[in-house]
Amino acid sequence: MFPPETRILVIDDMPSIRDLVKNTLKTMGYKNLQEAGDGEEGLKILMQLNSTGTNIQLVICDWNMPKMKGLDLLKHVRATAEWTNLPFVLLTSESERDQVTEAVLAGVSQYIVKPFSAKIFEDKLKAAWQKHNK
Ligand SMILES: [Mg+2]
Repeated sequence: MFPPETRILVIDDMPSIRDLVKNTLKTMGYKNLQEAGDGEEGLKILMQLNSTGTNIQLVICDWNMPKMKGLDLLKHVRATAEWTNLPFVLLTSESERDQVTEAVLAGVSQYIVKPFSAKIFEDKLKAAWQKHNK
C-alpha cells in the first residue's frame, strides 16, 4: 500500500468531492495532499513539482471536468516520459462506466465509481499500489 508520506494530488471540479476524497485520505493517514479544480490546473501542479524532489506520487482525478477532462490528463501523463509509471486513479460516475475501457487502454491504474465507500476507496488504492509495485 502507498506509504503514509506519499504525495497525493486530488483533482475534481467539485469542492465537495475534493473534500470527501481528502478527508478519506486523511483518515487513512495521508497528510501530503495537494488539490486542483480541473485537469489543466492539475497538470500545472504536476509540472511545477516534477523533478523538485517533492514530485507527486499518486494522482486521484475526476473524469468529467472543465478545461481538461480526466481522461485527457491521463493520456498526457502517460505520454510524458517521467510519468509513464505514475499511479493514476480516475473517479467516474455511473454514467461514465461504459467509457472505462478507453481509460484502461490509456493506462489508468484503477478507477473508482462515485459514490464510493471508504472500504472501496482503500481497496482500489491498494490495487493501484500493487499494479505499480509488482
Ligand atoms: Mg466532475
